[in-house]
Amino acid sequence: MSRVKESPSSQVADRVRAFRAEGRKVLPLTIGEPDFDTPDHVKDAAVAAIRAGETKYTSANGTPALQKAITSRLLRKTGQSYATDEICVGGGAKQLIFLAFMATLDEGDEVIVPAPYWVSYPDMVSVNGGRPVIVGTTAGEGYKLTPDRLRAAITERTKWVVLNTPNNPTGAVYSEEELRGLTDVVRAHPHLSILCDEIYDEINFGTRPVPSAVTVAPDLRERVFLVNGVSKAYAMTGWRIGYGAGAARLCAALGTLQSQSSSCPSSVSQAAAVAALDGGREFIDRTVAIYTERRDLLVSGLDAIDGLRPAVPEGGFYVWTDASALTGAVTPSGTRMTSDADLAEHFLESSGVVVITGDSYGCPGHFRASFALSSDTIREAVAGLAHSVSLLR
Ligand code: PLP
Repeated sequence: MSRVKESPSSQVADRVRAFRAEGRKVLPLTIGEPDFDTPDHVKDAAVAAIRAGETKYTSANGTPALQKAITSRLLRKTGQSYATDEICVGGGAKQLIFLAFMATLDEGDEVIVPAPYWVSYPDMVSVNGGRPVIVGTTAGEGYKLTPDRLRAAITERTKWVVLNTPNNPTGAVYSEEELRGLTDVVRAHPHLSILCDEIYDEINFGTRPVPSAVTVAPDLRERVFLVNGVSKAYAMTGWRIGYGAGAARLCAALGTLQSQSSSCPSSVSQAAAVAALDGGREFIDRTVAIYTERRDLLVSGLDAIDGLRPAVPEGGFYVWTDASALTGAVTPSGTRMTSDADLAEHFLESSGVVVITGDSYGCPGHFRASFALSSDTIREAVAGLAHSVSLLR
């Protein structure tokens, strides 16, 4: 347990609860899930599954119906036909990533994690005996790992490089050309695999589908573990269904670990996930149009505030904002902004706006603001942030 810490989002949630308990208004730009409801046809499929008695254990790696829906989706997206033994299903993408590290890492094995990173990767690596190797990226590089930085971080102990596209927190999406540069490096190091977390791939504001490492380097398919799920695309975070595609040996190992831990993912949620994956694009197209408006609202609002430099996200529902210009600034009561936490506390105290600090993502001097919120809340939060920043000297 000493290798793992509580997720920063839960810590922020506690702080927000305490603030609300004092009767103060909070504008939480911390939300990490769609604010839309799960589509009705998905709920109906779950109810039908319950009524039809699909309420028992399933095979550890998912029902045949869900495996089929996943392979069809992967074929549509990547052009690759995966066999069912190259698919695994788990209680969210998060569980599959955790199990993939558990299945493959020996004590001291290294996992390259580009920063800014999703908060869970380093802890998941550490708790499974591995060593996260954090590789920084810059705004100039679009917060993306470059082939040179990847090459320099590889050692004989490297097992995985984690690529998250679209990225949480930055919204960066790797282009085909960028992926080709990275897969060329991986190809030259046969002991290294890529864990490609594509959980936000449907929420993207550019080219569709989001380019995938297997599309640009199909020859590396055995060494790419694609992770995805229904949480973000279909507003199904509470249903807990994620899936992975990769080497049959790896998927079998994950199935074994699941069979000895959770037995299988929820049967009812699996039926719902089939309806989501097979159900057409109406929900995704409609919600992405709404996310696009909110993104523009939040980015332009933040951009208009002196001292904040938001990066325009190409996918996901977060705006990654450089606030390093405010380091050292002083509040009217004389508190100096010496850390991300100082700034986040100042925002909360002076305008009730809550953000997640950049240091949580391995990149101090920044914060993450979510736009999985109504446009009115976003407008109010932007006005609040403008007020908070205007107080600093
Ligand atoms: N990967 C990333 C980058 C995420 O941001 C999240 C959720 O916040 C997940 C994976 C987990 O998704 P799931 O709900 O499928 O476990």
